[in-house]
Amino acid sequence: MFEQLAETGQRPKAMVVACVDSRVDPAVIFDAAPGQLVTVRNVANLVPPYAPDAASHGTSAALEFGVQVLEVTDLVVLGHGQCGGVHALLQGAPIIAGDFVGQWMSIAEPARVRAMRCESVEHRQRCCEEEVVKVSLTNLMTFPWIAERVARGVLRLHGAWFAIRTGELLVLQDGCFRAMATNAK
Ligand SMILES: [Zn+2]
Repeated sequence: MFEQLAETGQRPKAMVVACVDSRVDPAVIFDAAPGQLVTVRNVANLVPPYAPDAASHGTSAALEFGVQVLEVTDLVVLGHGQCGGVHALLQGAPIIAGDFVGQWMSIAEPARVRAMRCESVEHRQRCCEEEVVKVSLTNLMTFPWIAERVARGVLRLHGAWFAIRTGELLVLQDGCFRAMATNAK
């Protein structure tokens, strides 16, 4: 398989923005073989707003490569349950991860504000995980070459949320995360 991939090059159709959480592996969740998924993973599956300045933007560079060079047709933001990044956002980043995590998670501040309206702490975490996916999708549309492709109908954006404990995968439809329709009939 790898010999063939080396020979023919990669032509993946989908890209996933996922969390660094070791339990949330997009290739495992989507049952994808090498060559099928472009993956960028960072703390809490965040997409920063488009900012072509002098700073080093790892996630934005990966998006540029996946969208502009590989021309993927589907782009998924995959959130998940028990997300430590989201926990840090809600509780304040732990001191040992104070150099970068807090600043990085500030991208998701709109999600935190919306989640704080939830009364129970447990629901707040889940709500914030879902809102983070929505923030990332909103930020994706600030990239001009993504917005342009979406408008042309050659790129589709998707939101999803994975429950580690049950293996359930919810898909964002009309503003709500719902169970995915299965192939079972
Ligand atoms: Zn996470």
